[in-house]
Amino acid sequence: MEKDVDIDKVVRQHLEMEQFLSGFALKGKTDTPEPRPSEGLGEPQQQQDNHVPTVRRPVQSEAEAMAAAEKSAELEKIAEEVHQCRKCGLGSLRTNAVPGEGNPNARIMFVGEGPGADEDAQGRPFVGRAGQLLDKVISAMGLKRSEVFIGNILKCRPPENRDPRADEIISCLPYLQRQIEIINPEIIVALGAHAARTLLNTTKSIGQLRGQFHEYYSGLGRPPIKLMATYHTAYLLRNYSQENRRRVWEDMKKVLTELGLPIPEQSTG
Ligand code: URA
Repeated sequence: MEKDVDIDKVVRQHLEMEQFLSGFALKGKTDTPEPRPSEGLGEPQQQQDNHVPTVRRPVQSEAEAMAAAEKSAELEKIAEEVHQCRKCGLGSLRTNAVPGEGNPNARIMFVGEGPGADEDAQGRPFVGRAGQLLDKVISAMGLKRSEVFIGNILKCRPPENRDPRADEIISCLPYLQRQIEIINPEIIVALGAHAARTLLNTTKSIGQLRGQFHEYYSGLGRPPIKLMATYHTAYLLRNYSQENRRRVWEDMKKVLTELGLPIPEQSTG
């Protein structure tokens, strides 16, 4: 989870992040634009809008519209339960619970560890610095945040952003499991060790898990969902090397390829 850092480091990382993601920040442009899909995680490329919608099925028939509405209603029901939840001690410490948000028909579901201070304040996932970097990763993939679903293992913020405890995970995981079951994404992207280990029920390190597809089982009789583990964006901010950024981008390229989506052009970063 996000940790406090000194202001110089924050500014430096921000500039480096902008440079890496858009290629503009340190080249004299002050009003850095949002990264375009064509820019990937590396150097700037030609300006073109090659956004390809990833929502699995455009809603066409009445039956499909009803199914989509049912999914939204079920997700809303889970969100209401989360807002009332007191299954673990975190329930009494939160400002807001953070159930998760996104497209009920998402093909990709990003799963993080748990809310930080910004998420706790706003009740929305990935809205702090790590979230801004996740937005840029999503954009570099040629996708929109509104097309994916973003959730967390824990729905409430652990104090001081400490690691989730086993009892908290055990209490909270069923909410995420139900969200996955309803959304039934084609790919889950597990951000960081806690998400990857929890969903894969393993103690392996994120270094061992990232970069390859694993299988997540959402229930008996249901085909496994492909899971790509990668570094958490908060880890990336703290360990902002070219090599780590390249690794995340390599992982996301595999996700796009698996979904049959175009890989926006970019340099190797
Ligand atoms: N880190 C997470 O793991 N989840 C969030 O929602 C924000 C930061």
